[in-house]
Amino acid sequence: MESPVIIVVSGPGGVGKGTIVDALVERDPALFLSRSWTTREQRPSESDDAYVFTTTAQFEQRISDGGFLEWTEFLGNYYGSPTPDVDESRDLVLEIEVDGAQQVKRIHPDAVLIFVLPPSRAEQERRLRGRGDLEHKVLARLKKAEEEEPVGRRLADFTVVNDDLEETIDEMLGIIDAVRSSRQHG
Ligand code: 5GP
Repeated sequence: MESPVIIVVSGPGGVGKGTIVDALVERDPALFLSRSWTTREQRPSESDDAYVFTTTAQFEQRISDGGFLEWTEFLGNYYGSPTPDVDESRDLVLEIEVDGAQQVKRIHPDAVLIFVLPPSRAEQERRLRGRGDLEHKVLARLKKAEEEEPVGRRLADFTVVNDDLEETIDEMLGIIDAVRSSRQHG
């Protein structure tokens, strides 16, 4: 049995990462989506299991217990991927920002980073505004997204432009299958 592939999906805010990874795990039962912890407040539009919503104290306790594969601070909140339980039968998907992606690559050089790009700034801005965040938060996220993009492009094994959601999902499933077969045969 090959060891599981770690697939890191990263990309600037407003690019549709959450929708994409949900679709990936729904269509490919051999994928397992890691659920992150965050200290950010839950949005009214967000489901209870979008994250494990925690307090800063709980998060910091888990950091000192060594319970994260990676964690970071993003616009004033903590976000982190709990150290995964070993599940040999499924490949792991992490949906995280670029600093976390860099940490995962350092620990697991075999991890595959797919960086998702928005079709245009205007579309990205439209999606970021559609979440109902306050204006100053939208602006901070847009600025952060601009900083993240060049870093992510440099780090990425694959870049995908999320122009059409269905095509993006198919393209990413194709990338994941290609990685699996190259590991099996090579
Ligand atoms: P949001 O607040 O929009 O849900 O997430 C903000 C950013 O944090 C997004 O880029 C998202 O991909 C990223 N993120 C979510 N979970 C994690 C995590 O566990 N670790 C890291 N490093 N980033 C995360």
